[in-house]
Amino acid sequence: MDNETNAAAPLDFIRAIVVNDVKNNKNNGAVVTRFPPEPNGYLHIGHAKAICLDFGIAAEFNGITHLRMDDTNPTKEDLEYVESIKQDVKWLGYDWGDKLFFASDYYEKLYERAVELIKRGKAYVCDLSPDEVREYRGTLTEPGRESPCRNRSVEENLDLFARMRNGEFEDGAKTLRAKIDMASPNMHMRDPAIYRIRREHHYRTGDKWCIYPMYDFAHCISDSIEGITHSICTLEFEIHRPLYDWFLDELEMPCHPQQIEFARLNLTYTVMSKRKLLTLVKEHYVNGWDDPRMPTLCGMRRRGYTPEAIRAFVASTGATKTNSISDLSLLEHFQRDDLNKRALRAMAVMNPLKVVITNFPEGTVDELDAVNNPEDESAGSRKVPFSRELYIEQEDFMEDPPKKYFRLAPGREVRLRYGYFIKCEEVVKDENGAVVELRCTYDPATRGGNSPDGRKVKGTIHWVSAAHAKKAEARLFAPLFTPEDPTESELEFKELLNPDSLNVTECLIEPSLQDAAPGALFQFERVGYFCCDPDSTPERKVFNRTVGLKDSWAKIQNKEA
Ligand code: ATP
Ligand code: MG
Repeated sequence: MDNETNAAAPLDFIRAIVVNDVKNNKNNGAVVTRFPPEPNGYLHIGHAKAICLDFGIAAEFNGITHLRMDDTNPTKEDLEYVESIKQDVKWLGYDWGDKLFFASDYYEKLYERAVELIKRGKAYVCDLSPDEVREYRGTLTEPGRESPCRNRSVEENLDLFARMRNGEFEDGAKTLRAKIDMASPNMHMRDPAIYRIRREHHYRTGDKWCIYPMYDFAHCISDSIEGITHSICTLEFEIHRPLYDWFLDELEMPCHPQQIEFARLNLTYTVMSKRKLLTLVKEHYVNGWDDPRMPTLCGMRRRGYTPEAIRAFVASTGATKTNSISDLSLLEHFQRDDLNKRALRAMAVMNPLKVVITNFPEGTVDELDAVNNPEDESAGSRKVPFSRELYIEQEDFMEDPPKKYFRLAPGREVRLRYGYFIKCEEVVKDENGAVVELRCTYDPATRGGNSPDGRKVKGTIHWVSAAHAKKAEARLFAPLFTPEDPTESELEFKELLNPDSLNVTECLIEPSLQDAAPGALFQFERVGYFCCDPDSTPERKVFNRTVGLKDSWAKIQNKEA
């Protein structure tokens, strides 16, 4: 895995900082990073970027990475999310060893640090209401005003803060605030809140606490407690960095991690906000967090995306300081590239057209050899039954074909994949003139796909044997959102959903696919890459289309013509 990240991202600005720190023996040359998700939703492809940077960089410098649940907001957090986060980080290919932490385990320590700040005269209990706090804060152009409570004595503050903890005051009645600078040009430095009163049940600490620390306070101290050396986060925290540093300096914390910010990963045709993804799930716009149309890691996994492809994609986007939006087609490119190497080939027909081989003896079956993966000899081969009645794709026949059409047409010959040359002798139509059956002859001498007389055919098409094929469900996906960047629109994001993002159809699969296990990956030849879905039953398999095949037709033609 190291090679993978090294090759794709030689030395981005974060790695340059780390290289320099290690060279200068900062932190005794140690590199300790952390991935700090809040367990209030499932991880998405954006998180994958943070995970790859946090774990990838540490590994490259023989360091370690902590997985820390940043669970200081009691209202939205849940154990379900904790479990899903662990599963997804593991699936992506990363290992935190025994370094699983919870910010909620630090509540007592965080409280002590807040007391310490009060003792140092750097924090005070404030009685202003949330509205008043806003009013006192000032604006970007005007300095704020000091709270009337700002100059309370240390003793009074200690007493009030202890009573906040003891539940003597109403929710929102008081806050503990850092005493910094109400005139600072950085609004985050204008005496930010450190603790608020909130009678909420926490999924881990229960009702033990009625005061909860704010993110800015909890995060830097958690980092410091854990001995994090490089605290890598997204750009929106850049403006919080002075506050991060202020807390650690004022408390003279023995470990002062360095916060480094990079640009978020965004992806076209989707949204990445956990709040919005939660809405899609809760209001049933999608079928759960693992709906294959979701940008969540569990959704992508169910769809057939692989950790290798996601890591390669993420590495290709690099680590930068400028926000941008990555193309979905780039992600698909990496996915195709990976699946081409690993997916077993199989045949499935999406829109069947019946073909009768008139000179093939009735009731007999020819077991043909089919290669499982031309890119991987070790994948071996399988038998595919060939019989008198077959199905091919409707689009592989044209009654009146244009010049460059090399597939089946009246009087024309094509190769059946792994099989024989067949020639269309007769077209059968229904009363409306629609083609319902082709009557063809096969050339027994062309078994395996070549003619001993050197006769060439330009087209190769896939097929299934009518008597042996099984019916299966294919789920074909289009992007979840219609606009390229749904966050740019004036409309509410729910109104931007693509009504055609899910297309469920029936297809016919070759018999070997009936044994597919959930999660198994296939290339349905000339159709696309598919992943067997857990909704499958032994009787009826369900396949999710992971990605289509680009230029599949041209490729087969070039290889075999
Ligand atoms: P929200 O969607 O509510 O803003 P979040 O995505 O920041 O939340 P966290 O659980 O706080 O969710 O994220 C954990 C880590 O993943 C953070 O360090 C965050 O910076 C990083 N992260 C989140 N989204 C992205 C993204 N799109 N690209 C890169 N990193 C991300
Ligand atoms: Mg966050």
